[in-house]
Amino acid sequence: MTGFFYVCYKCNPMIIDTHCHLDLLTADDLYAELMPDRRYLTMSTGMENWQAVSTLARSSANIYAAFGIHPWFVCTQSDNVLSELSALIESDKPTAIGEIGLDFSASHSHSRHLQVQVFEQQLTLAADFKLPVSLHVVKAHEVMLALLKRYRPQGVVHSLGASIELARRYVDLGFKIGVNGIVLRDNARRYHQLVSYFGLDHIVLESDAPNIALPGAKTGHLHDIDRTIARIAELSGLQIDDVIAVSGHNAQQIFQFR
Ligand SMILES: [Zn+2]
Repeated sequence: MTGFFYVCYKCNPMIIDTHCHLDLLTADDLYAELMPDRRYLTMSTGMENWQAVSTLARSSANIYAAFGIHPWFVCTQSDNVLSELSALIESDKPTAIGEIGLDFSASHSHSRHLQVQVFEQQLTLAADFKLPVSLHVVKAHEVMLALLKRYRPQGVVHSLGASIELARRYVDLGFKIGVNGIVLRDNARRYHQLVSYFGLDHIVLESDAPNIALPGAKTGHLHDIDRTIARIAELSGLQIDDVIAVSGHNAQQIFQFR
């Protein structure tokens, strides 16, 4: 059969928080901040919080789970942990594998070999289960890009603060860029440039709550995403409704929320 397929992303625009840590919010904050007309993709960081993330995703139709081992939490027992991760993906059918990646900054570079090994194993799981990934990448872009070229996952680079040239290499591999409250900081020049340069084509929204606090705040909140949206609208010269609609469409393309 031939013909067109027209996607009307404006019919049902929805704010999609593609990267948050709901298990780290207090129960009171969670109750007060979760909104029924938004979607939340909540990350895990290792075996210690997989169960909490699984319980959250089962508790509400608009909470979606990502399971993975964060590069800060790789350990030498990761082989056993990976077989548990595989079993959990099989049973829970999460939306993504995350938060995973590479962090070669000074405080984490001691584990770089182990990080690469565990990350590659998780990219294999992503391929086996046909799942997108949510990536944490710090000072490891060349190694990361080489691995993405080899394994070809789909996904998002969360909180990417890179040059336009570097971001372009991720975009060329089909990746979207996760933008959060850092874009509200006056000195976040790279983040501003990425939004101004790429417009909305390659951007998805995230709060990273409670980890990223807005300027002047002590902690991050889920509703910070509203101010992030307003700032993206300002930087890209677009309407707030368009930011919500297009970023939501981008997020849906990657994560296939059901
Ligand atoms: Zn995160």
